[in-house]
Amino acid sequence: MRRVFLGKTGLKVSRTGFGALPIQRVSIQTASKILNFAYDSGINFFDTARGYSDSEKKIGIAFKNKRHNIIIATKMSGKTKKEILDLLCISLKQLKTDYVDILQLHNPETLPDPSDENSSYAGLKEAQKKGMVRFIGITTHKLQDAKKSIKSCMFDTLQYPLSLLSSDKELRIIDICQKYNIGLIAMKPLCGGLLTDINLAFSFLWQFENVIPIWGIQRIKEIKQIVELSENPPEISADLKKRIRQERKELGSSFCRGCGYCLPCPAEIPISMAARMKFLLRRSPYKNFLTPQWQENMLKIRNCTNCGSCKSKCPYNLDTPIILKDMLDDYIEFARNKGIIINRREK
Ligand code: SF4
Ligand code: SF4
Repeated sequence: MRRVFLGKTGLKVSRTGFGALPIQRVSIQTASKILNFAYDSGINFFDTARGYSDSEKKIGIAFKNKRHNIIIATKMSGKTKKEILDLLCISLKQLKTDYVDILQLHNPETLPDPSDENSSYAGLKEAQKKGMVRFIGITTHKLQDAKKSIKSCMFDTLQYPLSLLSSDKELRIIDICQKYNIGLIAMKPLCGGLLTDINLAFSFLWQFENVIPIWGIQRIKEIKQIVELSENPPEISADLKKRIRQERKELGSSFCRGCGYCLPCPAEIPISMAARMKFLLRRSPYKNFLTPQWQENMLKIRNCTNCGSCKSKCPYNLDTPIILKDMLDDYIEFARNKGIIINRREK
């Protein structure tokens, strides 16, 4: 497994990182098997979060005798110094360790003020001073905040969504991080499940030596696939370039990434899934989304009051209510073509 330096941290991480959000969905025993299989395959970089329920605990259990051989990044969304330090104490206990390699602010609404002695940033610095954290980072979905965070030189790493669907403007982050020697961790390399061709998604990001994608992993076969690709990285051939262009054309630029930052919706619409339904129906087993439960979920779109809450929180500036209505029309049509009639009447 190829290893590279993560920006100025000097940490030598596997170019294939392990995203530990999906292990929330499996048992502790299964998570241990998956994590150790990844470790035995050469993956040494594991990214989790305080907010991923028992993900940290599972990492702690799986690696209790291997702590010094792995690099752990976690993240938390505390808004003050005290909140960060309190949350970090919980994380360390869960992870069965007395330090994390990288502690990231988890998608803060705005960049913290470095001169504020009680800010979340002060919490990171204090944790670093006490040896509880080696390096500090930030995660964001907002391009402007990503750029600001790099140029502020406040952080050692940046975690930002990057995939073959990223716009040219977003991809410029790669060069900027290189210039400032900031470790760049790519979240959502499969764009929240919209990309289903792992070879294509992998090859695209492999071009960028300073990008460390964290692949959300929940099965051993997914590790095998990604390790195989890491050991035999495919060239970006003319055919792959053509397929990348096709993917970009099909999804366009105004599509929901499924990040969930617009939630909760007062009308209880599961926006992060519903706003991608057109693609989920065509890119994953569609029957899972035509169940009576999903029909009910999709029909909640009719209860949208246009309150604007989702629009104001979407980091991609999407006009979410319009997208949802389009998704519902498509859903009803798709279901009809599969022989399922969904009541079209407005409530
Ligand atoms: S605008 Fe509609 S979809 Fe968006 S949060 Fe409000 S009710 Fe929910
Ligand atoms: S509408 Fe925007 S904020 Fe909501 S899930 Fe989609 S991309 Fe994320």
